[in-house]
Amino acid sequence: MTGVGIVGGFVAGFFLWGFAEYLLHRFAMHHLRGKGMMSREHLEHHVRASWTWSSVFLLSWSGMLLVGFALWAPLGWALVDTWFGLSVAIGWTAGYFFYEYQHAMAHLQAPKGRYGTWLRHHHFHHHFGHPMANHGVSWPLWDHVFGTFEDPGLVRVPRRLAMTWLVDDDGEILPEYADRYALVGRAATDERLAALDRARAFASVAPTE
Ligand SMILES: [Zn+2]
Ligand SMILES: [Zn+2]
Repeated sequence: MTGVGIVGGFVAGFFLWGFAEYLLHRFAMHHLRGKGMMSREHLEHHVRASWTWSSVFLLSWSGMLLVGFALWAPLGWALVDTWFGLSVAIGWTAGYFFYEYQHAMAHLQAPKGRYGTWLRHHHFHHHFGHPMANHGVSWPLWDHVFGTFEDPGLVRVPRRLAMTWLVDDDGEILPEYADRYALVGRAATDERLAALDRARAFASVAPTE
């Protein structure tokens, strides 16, 4: 096995994850409307539009490692050889953890650079504009292929769900983000609004203002 094959395996695995990211997010998370743990956990993420650590992550991390090393590695091994199989599994794992990291950071930290700026704009349109569009988080390729890509335009963020990095201490939008985001509605929530946020998240509809 040459170095080219190892790099090829890694790229194939990384690419494979990007495809899985799209399919899982669109079908296993949104189309299932809360049936099954993966869908329920993801739609809970839409209810609050925030990222917090949960032990459930350990389960998905182990699951994806298992898919990489118990499914893709033997398959790559059978198709080419051991090193190729291992490279595919490592590429898949790298793609998955890249996605997990970028997604968490999108919610928690201000963008740095063009990629982070793009990713947040693309992903927050998914949250606040149209949850059945822009399913790719780290990469928009499959949204373009399957016709679910939407140009976010100005993303209207309900104040009660605003990312902490988007606003100043008074809860007003920081000027550097005003060309991509606008704050709408009021900051306070109540029981009725919380119930509505939940119902709309589970129906894959954007939250009301
Ligand atoms: Zn998100
Ligand atoms: Zn989603």
